[in-house]
Amino acid sequence: MRSAENPDVVVVGAGLAGLSLALALAGEGMEVAVLEAGSEPAPFSEDKELNSWDPRVSALTPTSTAWLDGLGVWPAIEAGRVGPYTRMSVWDGAGTGQITFTARDLDVPLLGHIVENRVTVRALLEAVRGRANIRLHWGAGVESADFTAGEGAVVHTADGLRWHAPLVIGADGARSRTRELAALPTRAWSYNQHAIVTTVQLAQPHQQTCFQAFLDTGPLALLPLSESHLCSIVWSLDDGCWEPLQACSDADFVLAMNRALDTEAPTVQGVAERAVFPLRQCHAIDYVRDGCALVGDAAHSIHPLAGQGINLGLKDARVLSEEVCAAWRDGLPLGQLAALRRYQRRRKTDNLLMMSAMEGFKRGFGSRNPAIRVARNMGLSWVDGAKPLKNWLAREALA
Ligand SMILES: Cc1cc2nc3c(=O)[nH]c(=O)nc-3n(C[C@H](O)[C@H](O)[C@H](O)COP(=O)(O)OP(=O)(O)OC[C@H]3O[C@@H](n4cnc5c(N)ncnc54)[C@H](O)[C@@H]3O)c2cc1C
Repeated sequence: MRSAENPDVVVVGAGLAGLSLALALAGEGMEVAVLEAGSEPAPFSEDKELNSWDPRVSALTPTSTAWLDGLGVWPAIEAGRVGPYTRMSVWDGAGTGQITFTARDLDVPLLGHIVENRVTVRALLEAVRGRANIRLHWGAGVESADFTAGEGAVVHTADGLRWHAPLVIGADGARSRTRELAALPTRAWSYNQHAIVTTVQLAQPHQQTCFQAFLDTGPLALLPLSESHLCSIVWSLDDGCWEPLQACSDADFVLAMNRALDTEAPTVQGVAERAVFPLRQCHAIDYVRDGCALVGDAAHSIHPLAGQGINLGLKDARVLSEEVCAAWRDGLPLGQLAALRRYQRRRKTDNLLMMSAMEGFKRGFGSRNPAIRVARNMGLSWVDGAKPLKNWLAREALA
């Protein structure tokens, strides 16, 4: 096994969380190695054809875009196709409850941006390539690691290289190999749902509105893209319900969507290829140990119903970078547990709160109990009429 350079930090995973964290650490002067199991993404065109859109998009909050802006990445993302949204309309598909938020209610220009994940990754990669102190290795899946080898950790990758660094950061997604190798246990369960994601063509403009219907079988979200008549959708469906919708013809899928959306949202006219993702909740009991920290989905994966997954991951990256940079400036060992624990303390409560809220929504809206249905309808309508509470909730969603 050949020995590679000995960087200050190894980041495992070149997703949104890992790349943004690598940029922040390199900005402070650290030597960073990013190890990615996959291969370099191919260039893509940005034409208007339905199938040219990445089915994986994220609703980036203003807090997330501010962090990306601070890293110098947001202008390159904004130069691509991003869909600002200024209104959110949420309703109970099995009742009459409804709630609507607008940017104007909150005195802000917009509520967030819908961005294709590959557009964000492309901008992050451009910035990474511009940094001489970040080495990005494709096809370098982490296979084994030793966190007991004295200061820091030794990592072995699929390309036959061996890495030694004081700090290894697992940003390798929901099925994190780093988490497993660092023996950081999780609490995890399946939602018994899958999400169908795709792009749809609308008969009417979306007017920069995010639509979300809570249906008996799971939530259906329409997220407005930069083109006025296109939305990305995330349709979460109970096991047993998603399979026929994934297998059916485009015409039948469009019919099913229009039936599900009723009259609250624009009419769907066409659909691109569909992709399916299993949904599970997973939370690491500890995010850190000596020489190792987890960020993003490696630390926590949640239901996509509030579109918060990567927003939480970017906050992890920001807070961990603050703690590691402070240790670096003070000349302390980077893998020292005290600084890593401060990161965990600052992030875990926020992540737990969001995960509990998602669980509550998922269970409340998944219930077929008539009493719960009446309560949730009254609750939604009551919150919609209670302006201070509604605005507070909306501001939380922007953070
Ligand atoms: C259907 C769906 C819709 C969603 N919609 C939203 C939304 O609107 N808004 C939002 O905020 N979130 C959303 N999410 C969640 C969001 O996609 C995730 O939170 C986010 O992608 C996690 O980013 P990450 O960088 O932590 O991990 P990932 O994006 O999973 O990146 C991990 C990287 O690590 C690499 N890797 C894996 N194993 C190894 C290894 N052993 N060695 C080296 N590299 C490895 C992978 O190849 C990958 O590149 C959604 C999720 C789903 C499933």
